[in-house]
Amino acid sequence: MVKAAARAYIGGMVTRLYTHPIFLEHITPPGHPERPDRLRAIERALDDEAFAALDRAEAPEGDEATILYAHPQEFVERVRAMIPATGIARVDADTTASPKSWQAAVTAIGAANAAVDDVFRGNAENVFVAARPPGHHAEKTTSMGFCLFNTAAIAARYAQRQHQAERVAIVDWDVHHGNGTQDIFWDDPSVLYCSTHQMPLYPGTGAVSETGAGNIVNAPLAPQTGSEVFRDAFLSRILPALDNFAPDLIIISAGFDAHHRDPLAEINLTENDFDWATGQLMQRAGRHSDNRLVSLLEGGYDLQGLAFSVVAHVGRLMKG
Ligand SMILES: [Zn+2]
Repeated sequence: MVKAAARAYIGGMVTRLYTHPIFLEHITPPGHPERPDRLRAIERALDDEAFAALDRAEAPEGDEATILYAHPQEFVERVRAMIPATGIARVDADTTASPKSWQAAVTAIGAANAAVDDVFRGNAENVFVAARPPGHHAEKTTSMGFCLFNTAAIAARYAQRQHQAERVAIVDWDVHHGNGTQDIFWDDPSVLYCSTHQMPLYPGTGAVSETGAGNIVNAPLAPQTGSEVFRDAFLSRILPALDNFAPDLIIISAGFDAHHRDPLAEINLTENDFDWATGQLMQRAGRHSDNRLVSLLEGGYDLQGLAFSVVAHVGRLMKG
């Protein structure tokens, strides 16, 4: 076993990975892009000598009470009531629930909150949470876009309530705009929400003019653009906003569907762009938040593109 001190000595970061078998039991209908095989592809990709030093942990059971950090009780009960005893229930046009979806969603929240605990307690510099269902489309009172609850938003508020973080930044590079995260923090200047996303594309929000309380930075990308435009959005919009905000914690809504192989969008990033963006955010975490960085899987629907991207992302988290 490699101890943290030894790893620090050789210059690496202590990177933790949370996952859990329950995440495979959130079942979606046949042909649905958000499927259990996504996590199997990630697991296979990280089952490699290069990731031997990754500190692997099983996600703890989530605390349902923390869902209320981002969603009202009445909505939580509405979602609970939609979970079917058998089969698959339709939540909206493209969002579904199976019998274990509640447990999967709550465990995803448990993993994200545990990741926040880890970076504040010094158990790890950074953490990647490979969970599903994803979360960034879930608004205060609406499950949508494959998402039941907004895991990233709950984790941000968890950091504020449990670890006295004053300012939390959420950087969302999923190719879809995180309308849910924007909705939840629209009038909350203690959380900075920065997003790169294809526009036009689902869900239709994310214009530059949507700025909330001055805490929302949207950097829409035109279809068929790629690395250069994405990196420019980071360099000219997102990184300066982070420096200005000086967060106590950076959370990444890490969707990998801006990869050129992804079937749901038309942005042409490669895994090298995710490596680069990860490095940039680590630099800001080093500057402002004592390296504290928590990365939560959102989208990414081409299994090979997803696997390559996660390898680049987690590899960079470990290398520093
Ligand atoms: Zn997406």
